[in-house]
Amino acid sequence: MHLAIIGAGLAGLSAARALSASHRVTLIEKAENPAGRMATHETEFGGFDDGVQFFSASSEEFKREITQWKKEAWIDAWQARIVRLVNGRALTPARSAVRYVARPGMGALCANLAQGLPLATAQTVTGLQTWGNAKWLLAVQADTVAIPAHAGPFDAVILAMPPEQAAPLLHDVAPQLAAQAASVHLAPCFTLELAFAQALDLGYDGAFIEQSRLAFIAHDNSKPGHRPGERWVAHAALAWSQEHLQDDLPRVRDKLLKAFHEATGSQVQPVYAQALRWPFAQAVQPMAGDCLWDANLRIGLCGDWFAAGLEGEGRVENAWLSGRRLAQQIMQSMPQD
Ligand SMILES: Cc1cc2nc3c(=O)[nH]c(=O)nc-3n(C[C@H](O)[C@H](O)[C@H](O)COP(=O)(O)OP(=O)(O)OC[C@H]3O[C@@H](n4cnc5c(N)ncnc54)[C@H](O)[C@@H]3O)c2cc1C
Repeated sequence: MHLAIIGAGLAGLSAARALSASHRVTLIEKAENPAGRMATHETEFGGFDDGVQFFSASSEEFKREITQWKKEAWIDAWQARIVRLVNGRALTPARSAVRYVARPGMGALCANLAQGLPLATAQTVTGLQTWGNAKWLLAVQADTVAIPAHAGPFDAVILAMPPEQAAPLLHDVAPQLAAQAASVHLAPCFTLELAFAQALDLGYDGAFIEQSRLAFIAHDNSKPGHRPGERWVAHAALAWSQEHLQDDLPRVRDKLLKAFHEATGSQVQPVYAQALRWPFAQAVQPMAGDCLWDANLRIGLCGDWFAAGLEGEGRVENAWLSGRRLAQQIMQSMPQD
């Protein structure tokens, strides 16, 4: 049995690792590296965790996995001083679960998880088509190759990506799955990367911000194992991001930088500032259930947009659990090699 997994974010990697013990898997990822929304952007000022800032675990299953990642020294607890910023005042928030970060940046966790797995990067899957009675061929486009190619045939296909990206791939071949995916939406988010020539000494490592264009800021180099150099990452509020989704990035950068100065009270100008857009950042209302699996078509979907038994918006733990549970369903319904 040969399975294609499209998307090497945490959900795809979680499914791939669980399945690879019994099935042949091939991961196909459109970016240069695995990670998806756990990516770290490397710059001359050090790495910026542009998406996930930290993650925590509430399920026993994910706690066990995290223990393993800690043993491998892939992640560490971030002993951060996190505050709430309200009208310029720093208030101490309620105690929270342990916050974990990957070393030396979030992206490294996915690189470690991908070790030993067959992974094709910089390849975008643009369509699925049937091959013979019961197999799938994938249309694949790579920037470096002018002619579209095909991958496969595969016995089953997993789409481990945001629903907005999965639905168009499924419209013609699995309209029911496409409609289910299209019923969930991920809210957009802007990220602002900031590097400074001197330490800001704000007195905290992260802050949830209220009544601002920004929702959260993190002192990137305060995270364990991260490179030195004064770096901050700021995330815009989801509502503001939605409203300004079509604005050009330099304009977004300037507005968010102003909000950073207002929220922190620091007027120090950065030596580097860059904004980036996540069109599909976070499932505010994830779909009930763990994943979708059509045993007749042999197509599955997983990702953080499934609740996977958790409460609240889709996060790292949802992605990992969803990928793992889809793998379990596939192992039950498809014979092993
Ligand atoms: C700004 C931001 C901040 C966040 N902060 C946190 C946080 O602090 N804590 C937390 O727990 N969660 C946070 N999240 C959510 C977290 O990032 C996600 O829950 C998790 O990373 C989702 O993983 P995934 O594998 O489901 O999806 P993704 O990471 O989106 O992976 C999907 C992958 O599929 C690939 N792909 C898509 N289409 C194709 C195609 N056609 N062909 C090939 N490849 C394709 C993509 O390139 C991507 O690598 C944040 C997200 C954002 C954007």
